[in-house]
Amino acid sequence: MQVKCVICDIVENIEDNSPQAKKLRNKKTYMYLCQKCNERIKEKTLDRLSTGKFRLYKEKEKVDELI
Ligand SMILES: [Zn+2]
Repeated sequence: MQVKCVICDIVENIEDNSPQAKKLRNKKTYMYLCQKCNERIKEKTLDRLSTGKFRLYKEKEKVDELI
């Protein structure tokens, strides 16, 4: 089946019987990320977790909302 990456809009072909394809068919909310974006996001998430920046960013967002 053809799937479109939600970040870069690249269209990729994945195996119809792959676990990923099944997920996409069953859950409408499941978002497909291409290999590139997947790795990029994984890196970013790990970065955030290791530096704690993610938590700080979320806290800043809350403060901005209050102002
Ligand atoms: Zn992508």
